[in-house]
Amino acid sequence: MHTPSPRPILIAGGGPVGVIAALAIARQGLPVQVFEAEAKVNEMPRAATTHAATLEMLAGLGMVEEVIQRGYVEPLFRIWDRQSMQIMAEFDFGTLKDETPYPFAVQCEQHKLASMAIERLKNYPHAKVEFSARVASLTQNSDGVEIEVENADGVRKIAGSYLIGCDGGRSTVRKALDIEFEGYTHPERFMILTITEDLGLLYPGCTRNYVSDPESWFSMFKVSGDERGPLWRVLSSTQPEQTDDELMNPAATEARLQRFLPKDSPYNVVHRNLYNVHQRVAASFRKGRVFLAGDAAHVNNPLGGLGLNFGIHDAVELSDLLGRVIRREAPEKILDEYDLHRRPLNIEFVQQQTVANKKRMEEKDPAARAKDFETLRRTMNDPAAHRAYCRRASLIESVKKREAALA
Ligand SMILES: Cc1cc2nc3c(=O)[nH]c(=O)nc-3n(C[C@H](O)[C@H](O)[C@H](O)COP(=O)(O)OP(=O)(O)OC[C@H]3O[C@@H](n4cnc5c(N)ncnc54)[C@H](O)[C@@H]3O)c2cc1C
Repeated sequence: MHTPSPRPILIAGGGPVGVIAALAIARQGLPVQVFEAEAKVNEMPRAATTHAATLEMLAGLGMVEEVIQRGYVEPLFRIWDRQSMQIMAEFDFGTLKDETPYPFAVQCEQHKLASMAIERLKNYPHAKVEFSARVASLTQNSDGVEIEVENADGVRKIAGSYLIGCDGGRSTVRKALDIEFEGYTHPERFMILTITEDLGLLYPGCTRNYVSDPESWFSMFKVSGDERGPLWRVLSSTQPEQTDDELMNPAATEARLQRFLPKDSPYNVVHRNLYNVHQRVAASFRKGRVFLAGDAAHVNNPLGGLGLNFGIHDAVELSDLLGRVIRREAPEKILDEYDLHRRPLNIEFVQQQTVANKKRMEEKDPAARAKDFETLRRTMNDPAAHRAYCRRASLIESVKKREAALA
């Protein structure tokens, strides 16, 4: 059995990527400490879709059964044309059944994933998760890192072997490293309305639906929800000039839902959330002994449900590389692989797909829309193309590409 190194790997940020990285490290017998600025796991409605490639990784961390049990298994997703309210294409992850034990997506909210990882970390005495503890600054030399952590009692210094910045899109760690967050921010914001009504009654047969429209597209997803029972989330775009109050007041959110999904009675809205939307990738995922993972390294629009999935892949790959270096199974230079491979993979598989998904959802040119739908239909009806589309959408192709580079 490996003797834990005296200096822990430090993690800034206890979001889903930070705590999953910590679990992947702790399971190797290595000491790890997570510092989370907030007092508890953030329950804002963000990621819910967990794809096949990620489910395989969560299986390796002993989490997949609980994710499946607490989420919704959905092999299908549908793309609709709002103007005709016709299904333009239906894709089936079941076509990947020879390639993965999980030929489906699981709709499991990200705060549940984070809580599951934190529960498991309690089994490892060499793993610590500290809430209400903000990483304020960092220094590093060739031998280790030191961070300053602020909590209610003041500021203290903590030494570690490496630091992983999993502190989200506004990452303090990325800024401290002076690494540029290259890309752009979309002018409009996205709104998520979470409702208790069962949209499955209106749209039976599939719980992941993208409804394309040149004026106002939307998408709707079922999540397993809370004590109120299952919930549906309706995601849509807003106009850049609209203020928070114009968008978020109950009359406006009711009107928005009725416009998309008319019904005789008012909706029961349990959450209203507005999000800025970005397509950005850090210019580097590593400087010396400090790494960036998850949203600290890359952010993207949520169409396709890819951002957190890729962040979990970062966490798993980086934890493995660090473990091999600390155990002296591999030279320190293998850590270069992390930035060398993950950054271009994010651009190829996450940025490109999410930008294309958004463009297709909002395309205004009738000829381009017709062409998009025709391409989708052809892809859906050709078994090899259908399967290739699902491999890419589920991130299996990105994992295979990474594995091929290792071989
Ligand atoms: C509307 C919406 C829907 C989405 N849907 C999907 C989806 O279906 N599938 C998918 O894969 N992705 C989806 N995403 C993306 C997903 O939510 C993010 O990729 C995910 O939250 C990234 O996790 P993270 O742990 O890297 O960062 P975060 O979840 O942002 O967590 C970062 C953590 O760091 C903490 N922190 C910040 N600064 C510090 C500091 N200085 N010190 C200590 N702690 C700090 C924060 O409090 C936070 O808890 C969606 C996003 C949005 C907005």
